[in-house]
Amino acid sequence: MVKKKTVKKASLKKAKSSAKKHVYFFGGGKADGNGSMKNLLGGKGANLAEMAGHPSLKLPVPPGFTITTEVCTHFYESGKKYPAGLTEQVSTAMGKIEKIMGKKFGDAENPLLVSVRSGARTSMPGMMETVLNVGLTTKTIAGLIKKTGNERFVYDAYRRLMTMYSDVVMEKSAGLEPAEGKGVRHQLEKLMDGMKQAKGVTLDTELDADDLKELCVKYKAKIKEVIGKDFPDTAEEQLWGGIGAVFSSWNGKRAKSYRQIENIPHEWGTAVNVQSMVFGNMGKDSATGVAFTRNPGNGDNNFYGEYLIDAQGEDVVAGTRTPAPINKNSQNDQNRNEAMLEKVMPKVYKELHAIQNRLERHYRDMQDIEFTIENGQLFILQTRVGKRNGPAAVKMAVDMVKEKMISKKDAVMRVKPLQLDELLHPIIDPIEEKKVQPFAKGLPAGPGGASGRIVFDSDVAVKWFEKGEKVILVREETNPEDVEGMRAARAILTARGGMTSHAALVARGWGKCCIVGCGELKIDHREKTVKTKDLTLGEGDWITLNGTKGLVYKGTLPMIDATKENRYLVDFLKICDSERTMKVRTNADTPEDARKAREFGAEGIGLFRMEHMFYGEGADEPLFKLRKMILSNTEEERKNALKELYPHMKKDIKGTLKAMAGFPVTIRLLDPPLHEFVPHQEDQLRELAESLNVDMADLSRRVAKLKESNPMMGHRGVRLGVTYPEITEIEARAILEATAELVAEKHKVAPEIMIPVVGTDTEIVDQDAIIKKVYKEVCAKYGVKKLPLMVGTMIEIPRAALTAGKIAKVAEFFSFGTNDLTQMSYGFSRDDMGGFLIPYLEKKLLMEDPFQSLDQEGVGELITLGIERGRKARPKLKVGICGEHGGDPASIDFCYRAGMDYVSCSPFRVPIARLAAAQAKVSGKSK
Ligand code: ADP
Ligand code: MG
Ligand code: MG
Repeated sequence: MVKKKTVKKASLKKAKSSAKKHVYFFGGGKADGNGSMKNLLGGKGANLAEMAGHPSLKLPVPPGFTITTEVCTHFYESGKKYPAGLTEQVSTAMGKIEKIMGKKFGDAENPLLVSVRSGARTSMPGMMETVLNVGLTTKTIAGLIKKTGNERFVYDAYRRLMTMYSDVVMEKSAGLEPAEGKGVRHQLEKLMDGMKQAKGVTLDTELDADDLKELCVKYKAKIKEVIGKDFPDTAEEQLWGGIGAVFSSWNGKRAKSYRQIENIPHEWGTAVNVQSMVFGNMGKDSATGVAFTRNPGNGDNNFYGEYLIDAQGEDVVAGTRTPAPINKNSQNDQNRNEAMLEKVMPKVYKELHAIQNRLERHYRDMQDIEFTIENGQLFILQTRVGKRNGPAAVKMAVDMVKEKMISKKDAVMRVKPLQLDELLHPIIDPIEEKKVQPFAKGLPAGPGGASGRIVFDSDVAVKWFEKGEKVILVREETNPEDVEGMRAARAILTARGGMTSHAALVARGWGKCCIVGCGELKIDHREKTVKTKDLTLGEGDWITLNGTKGLVYKGTLPMIDATKENRYLVDFLKICDSERTMKVRTNADTPEDARKAREFGAEGIGLFRMEHMFYGEGADEPLFKLRKMILSNTEEERKNALKELYPHMKKDIKGTLKAMAGFPVTIRLLDPPLHEFVPHQEDQLRELAESLNVDMADLSRRVAKLKESNPMMGHRGVRLGVTYPEITEIEARAILEATAELVAEKHKVAPEIMIPVVGTDTEIVDQDAIIKKVYKEVCAKYGVKKLPLMVGTMIEIPRAALTAGKIAKVAEFFSFGTNDLTQMSYGFSRDDMGGFLIPYLEKKLLMEDPFQSLDQEGVGELITLGIERGRKARPKLKVGICGEHGGDPASIDFCYRAGMDYVSCSPFRVPIARLAAAQAKVSGKSK
């Protein structure tokens, strides 16, 4: 008998342990999971486990458990069913919570309440659902009132549960889509407003127990009326309703569109966290708040946060009451009169301060923390790496290196290349700003300046944006439904909400200019007006925001570039430079551009386009001469025209070489099809005819001859030099004489002549011979033995990439012209792609515009091959990229892995490229 029993026990144990683990418990100083398990437990769940269980933390986290993201995947794959064993594992875990808390879920005497919280791998603020106070029923309400002696608190919790649950579980998750303003939450809120009005109060904290009790009765009836179902009255039903709703919220409309924007895979799924409730709404010695270990708006190393007395979770971020500052650093114009936590509950504040310190050191990054105080006792409900804007990200990275909290490599990875963009963003010209008066002031939630036209609805914002309008989304407050509109807007302005409100959080994540809590604005969404005491504006009116100071102006103001004032940016980029090996050059066509690019840190010019001296300011005269050259009929005529052009070429080249102070300058020989330069206006043609000494009929014939049916693949690039060697000759002469003169003036110079549109090695052999001839002549003329010079080629025709081995025998460097290379690899005309790109993207035939981000699979293969074959022939072959892709972080990463020596991009992208090149080095492997 005894023997039999043990066998049975053992096999039972085995069966149990072989069942898949769906539920991870945390609490009482222990945890099944830990912070590294984000994929399985979601970010929130993993960090709750880490805080509860890690030996060096063991923070006061209410006990709970996490249902894994795998269950979410199973849920969707099996038509919304749960895997075997889940129910048992949940009830076992619930038992553990009950034991620690000394309460029982659904118990009439001493009921346990829980929250059911969503939590994906990466945080999606406000996009998914959470239900608090689950477990309150007719049966448990009485028990809880008796136990706490606080009737007001219990009915406050109950009305909150009903609001959240009916909205999240009974409506949204059930797939009901009521018309605008007809949703159950809205209707319940209307009852609340009615009650406040009837009582002559403005805050929900001013309602007493009887009021709330009465409200709960009304809520129940309203829910029945709107949804057509009774509010569930057992704890168990509420629990499973909540769990199902959280899983369902993963595929809610706004969660989906947020994932789309943020590129979060739909397959990841969310975890569900069930956690014992702690109550911030138990009276004056209770509170709830949100805090950041450093200021997320500017990066200052100051503990920063907001809180509300007698409130629950949502209240702080919802912006229904003005949150108070936790300390002096968190004060602003809006909350200055509210009492600080540091003063009101000094002991709790001290404890919170110590915890935030530990958390930041533990995670070695700025943390965004949720806390609740129940009758003077502190609980930590969440921690995560805090979202921050670009300026804050840069400052924190630099400071944390100085504080020896992180390494330089860590620092490099802490700033997203696109965040740097925010520091390079415009601000309102301070001189112009001084001349005008703002009409309103709010909280500076997202820095920088922006002008745009007022729109009041997200839909309109999106529509106008698509028409190319600059819009500013102006709203009473934003909620997660507005994400797409916020995305489309240049800036966001709200009348309500604090620095941790939804609008502020989302804007900060995206680096958008944003002002919140602009209380003096009266916004009427129906009438589409925004009013202050003495001003009324409507949809379409222009306003300008200073998101750094929180000021709102009527009309538009000029913007300027703020980059140079930021010393943290300079320090940060120095850190990047110390970690990267790939060089960053710029595409610049004038001495001015070259100087600007040097300020941004460019280490040379990767593309100086000869033709650019014929465009823009002061180009009239050279352009006229170029046109003469193009329309010349004989070599004689052409040579004369070129002679006139020569001084212009030499001057610009000399200026640019000098500005780059010894850094290499790659000068590309004339590239575009000639007909691009031919004028269309009658008077200009007449002037040309006169100067060439021909009649108009003759000139028209010459113009007509230049017309091509496919100019992109026509008489351009190296082909010009092949047919008119005198063009190559004069260009080489301008470059080399400029060089010789600078050398004689003791300047350091490093010119590189680049031949475009090469497809065969014979072409470059042909052109190289011309350049070498000029080289000898110039050396002789200036009485020098040699001059600095490299001769190389663009690789922008697939054939050139394939025959790179032969080409590299002559070419000393390659520069991948990925615009043309992409065009010719796909056979997509750069100029005509607009006609079909959008459907390609929508149907996901292309994941991205290949002209924006390099197609690594196809075009990238040509590059890899080209480099391999080129370097085989010439091991020291210098290789770079000069297409638009040179400023795209993902493409830069590819270039590094492919073994390029440098990338070249437009001047304003140089800082971004410096960061991206450093990140490529820190995170990757080069060939
Ligand atoms: P989100 O991901 O949208 O922030 P959360 O799950 O963090 O959603 O919960 C929303 C709010 O409810 C937060 O302020 C959180 O601190 C609070 N909250 C969640 N669970 C509890 C709990 N067990 N006790 C008290 N407050 C809670
Ligand atoms: Mg949260
Ligand atoms: Mg090209």
